[in-house]
Amino acid sequence: MEYSIKTTKPQEFINITNLVAEAVKTSGVKKGVAIVFVPHTTAGVTINENADPDVVTDILTALNKKYPENDGYLHIEGNSHAHIKASLMGSSCSVIIEDGRLKMGTWQGIYFCEFDGPRNRKVYIKILEG
Ligand code: ZN
Repeated sequence: MEYSIKTTKPQEFINITNLVAEAVKTSGVKKGVAIVFVPHTTAGVTINENADPDVVTDILTALNKKYPENDGYLHIEGNSHAHIKASLMGSSCSVIIEDGRLKMGTWQGIYFCEFDGPRNRKVYIKILEG
């Protein structure tokens, strides 16, 4: 399944846990794995705390401190910082499905990570039974 995400900021973390949970529900799969894949080179996906929104803000702040927008990069497009951050977060994550639900920690959320927005983005979600 392919989903569209419209990001609204140059950099932001968007909680897509409900989107993935909905994909699991729609599939009818009770036991298996949900794979979330981001088909972009300047956006990624990660799992982290969903309770305090300051946590993902702090992750973004830390990434920006370490990898500022301009730092003598060679890439002519000028968005190397976004490529680096996307690689650090990764392009995919997998979550076990049990009893038709995502088997995640209470404080975990799945985040789409935008590093070169705002843009129209895509997320692929594959539900495997087993
Ligand atoms: Zn680029």
